[in-house]
This record gives sequence, C-alpha cells and structure tokens, in this order.
Amino acid sequence: MSAKGDMFYAWTNVSDIKGECGGAVTSILKYLLESKIVDAVLTVQKGADVFDAEPVVITDPADLVKSAGSLHCGTLLLPKLIKKYLNGAKDMKLAVTCKGCDAKAMYELAKRQQINLDNIVMIGLNCGGSVSPVLARRMITEKYGIDPNDVVKEEIDKGQFIVMTKDGQHKGIKIDELEEEGLGRRKNCQRCETKIPRQTDIVCGNWGVIGEKAGKATFVEICSDKGAMIFDGAVKAGVLATSAPEEKGLEIRDKIENVMIKMGKKNQETQFAAIGEGTDRLKYIMAETGRCIKCYGCIENCPICYCVECSTKKPHLVRPGQVPPDFMFQMIRFAHIADSCVNCGQCTDICPQNIPNSLFMHAQQVELEKMFGHKPGMDMELPVLAFAEEIDERARLNATGSDMIYENVFGEEK
Ligand code: FAD
Ligand code: SF4
Ligand code: SF4
Ligand code: SF4
Repeated sequence: MSAKGDMFYAWTNVSDIKGECGGAVTSILKYLLESKIVDAVLTVQKGADVFDAEPVVITDPADLVKSAGSLHCGTLLLPKLIKKYLNGAKDMKLAVTCKGCDAKAMYELAKRQQINLDNIVMIGLNCGGSVSPVLARRMITEKYGIDPNDVVKEEIDKGQFIVMTKDGQHKGIKIDELEEEGLGRRKNCQRCETKIPRQTDIVCGNWGVIGEKAGKATFVEICSDKGAMIFDGAVKAGVLATSAPEEKGLEIRDKIENVMIKMGKKNQETQFAAIGEGTDRLKYIMAETGRCIKCYGCIENCPICYCVECSTKKPHLVRPGQVPPDFMFQMIRFAHIADSCVNCGQCTDICPQNIPNSLFMHAQQVELEKMFGHKPGMDMELPVLAFAEEIDERARLNATGSDMIYENVFGEEK
C-alpha cells in the first residue's frame, strides 16, 4: 500500500502505450477510465503538428494512446476549460493532467466555487517550462536552420531544446543560450517556481530516473490519499509496474528542483528590475498598456477572472468604445487579480498587442505576497481580497455622497 509522500519508478505494462518516459500517466488515466473512477479525462494531444497542442476530452480508454507523450509547446491552461465547457466538473468526475500552472489555477477556481475539486483527479506533471508555438517556429527556422514543418518531435533534455525531423535530422541548442537571445521558454515559465506540482494527487516526471530505468520509467510521487488509492489501484489492475527509486536518483531530483526554483526567482528579479520601480514602473506599464485594443482576450483566458458582471464593462468605470481604453481598464484588472495571479502566462500569450500582461500582474503578485504572505494556487487558503468587503460604489454614493460627486463619477444626475 502506498501513502502520501511515497515515491516510485513506474512504467506501463500496456504494450500500445508509448509514453514520454515510462507511460505511467497514460496508464493511470486508462485505469481511472476503465474502473469508472472518472467519467472522462481532460488532457492535450497533438493537433496539426507538434506545435499544435489541442485540448481533448477522452471517454473511451482506447483513445488515450493518442494523447501519450509531452508537448512542450502545449501552453494551454486546462482548468478554465473545465469551468467554461464542462460545467466546472459539477456533474461529472474528471481526471486532468496538470502542469504547475494548471494545478494552481485549479485551486484558485475552486476557491471561487467555479469548479468542484472533489470531482477532479489531478495528475501532475513536473514542468521545466513550455515554449510558445509561434516563437518555437521562428526559433527553429532562424536559429536551428530547420523548416518547422519538417519537425516530427521535440523534447527538452539535459538543458537543451531538441528537435527531430522526418528525415532523421536531430538538433539541440542549450536553453540558456536561446534565452540569452530572447528565445527559449515563455517568459512566465522562466519566472516560474512550481516545478513539481505537489498540489496534485500524483505527480509524474523524469527527473531522478537513473540507471537501467533511465528514459524507460516515470518518476512518481504520491501527493494525496486519493492519489495513493488510485496508484495502488492501477498497480493492482496490472497496468503499471513499479520499483523503488534509486537513492542517487532522489538526490538528483531534489537538486534539480532546487536549482530550477532558484533560477525562477533569479529570473523574477531580472525581469521585474527591467520594468523599473515605483513611479517609473507605473509609467512603464501605462505606456505599454497604451497599445491595448480592449479585445478582452486577457480577461477571457485568465483563470482568476470569473465575474459575470465584469467591472471593465461598466460604463461608469471604463468608457465604452474608447480605444485604447482608459488606464482604469488595466487598474480594475490589477485590483481584481494581482493577489491571486498564478503566473500562467495566458494573458500574455493571447494579447494581440504583445503587451506583457503576465509580467505586470506577476510583479504585483510578488509584492502583495511580501506584504500579506499569501501564495496563490498552493492550497485552499483564501486570497487577500476575500477579506475586503465588496461594495456597490453607485449605491454607496447614491446613499451617502454629495450630488456633485455622484454626477462627476457617473456622469448623470443622482
Ligand atoms: P505519458 O504517459 O506520456 O503521458 C503524458 C500526459 O501528459 C498525456 O496525458 C498528455 O496528454 C499530457 N500532456 C502532454 N503535454 C501536455 C501539456 N503541455 N499540458 C498538459 N498535459 C500535457 N518532467 C521532468 O521531470 N522535468 C521537466 O523539466 C519536465 N518538463 C515538462 C514540460 C512540459 C511542458 C510537460 C508537458 C511535461 C514536462 N515534464 C517534465 C513531464 C514529463 O515530460 C512527462 O510528462 C512525465 O514524466 C510523465 O511521463 P509519462 O511517460 O508517464 O507520461
Ligand atoms: Fe510549466 Fe510553470 Fe510554465 Fe506553467 S508557468 S508551463 S508550470 S514552467
Ligand atoms: Fe494567468 Fe495572466 Fe491571469 Fe496571472 S493575470 S493568472 S498570468 S492569465
Ligand atoms: Fe488589451 Fe491585450 Fe488584454 Fe486585448 S489581450 S484587452 S489588447 S491587454
């Protein structure tokens, strides 16, 4: 019997599962579907090419083989899809693969009663980072000298981003070198500190798998009682084989995690320093967001945004039809989200104006964390703003404010 905190090397016993490492994730998902512990699996699979990760809901265990393998250009965030398209898993049981940002978004959506975590099994994936599909294509053309349309597989291994082509070409370049030139992982991934998402039920990766099992097994850490039951069930059902991890492997995994966390913190310092401090930072943000065309992409995709009546659409706060919108548009977003931003990068990825939204929000989140000690996405602790009383400004001023103030704020008579 396994328990929270236990660690294993695990590999599939199912011949047609060709996983990224040992295929443990796909095997566990297969067990969850076949034993009817879940009704469906939400994960990603290759679309038109390796740069095109598409979300997929799988109900037939036979379809899982197509989703095996890691897509490092898969920058999707799955939890908001559960809220938007699967009724927040309120009436179905779901297993979901979760990078660190997915796991953190799960908790933030659950706190806001937008998804039912009791109905969700989170299968975590260690995450060294992901690469924007757009940048990946450019980088492969310009830096690798390879036509991205010829790439059939990509992987991140030993600090390199490696691509393989249909005619057997194989080329890797160090991620550090790529990032010095503004290429490589997404900027939010460079700042990320959630490398092994232990907020999930079971977390899987390749760090720490050494010796004869290197490349052939998945490193599994059990993170909850639910995870322990599922893992034991999968082993008992015969889809998974396991062995104890090597001592040296445990040390290596720990070491890599700590180095990656330190790198994330260092990148935060560098990227935040580049946007200045105090008034200079404010001016910088105002100038950058001055390109905004108010397409609402950042709002639609943010896992923290969920209000039915979005304040950025209230005419007394942000003038309708005004492009670029008043800075109040950005201020409302900062005020509503900054304490809970999980640095998932969706608001930057989606922005047609290339505004580094997640950098601005993450910089504020880190400042708020220093002040209030709240780290979003780690557990069910409520965000700082949960303790602020929400008031209807119009009603308050109607009751207490002078006629003049009311007219100035709302542009109409009281
Ligand atoms: P498989 O059986 O192959 O199953 C993998 C599952 O992950 C599938 O269900 C697939 O749909 C899902 N998946 C693939 N891509 C994504 C994605 N982008 N978002 C969400 N789900 C996805 N492990 C490390 O130890 N160190 C790392 O630095 C590291 N970086 C990673 C970066 C990314 C972007 C991803 C997606 C994974 C990373 N992993 C890392 C995890 C590792 O690549 C394997 O996913 C893990 O070891 C499980 O292997 P497996 O053979 O058991 O998985
Ligand atoms: Fe991975 Fe973190 Fe980037 Fe999410 S933000 S893809 S967890 S590195
Ligand atoms: Fe993710 Fe941006 Fe929302 Fe932060 S503000 S949680 S980075 S979408
Ligand atoms: Fe403005 Fe960009 Fe957000 Fe669109 S995604 S509303 S352009 S900041």
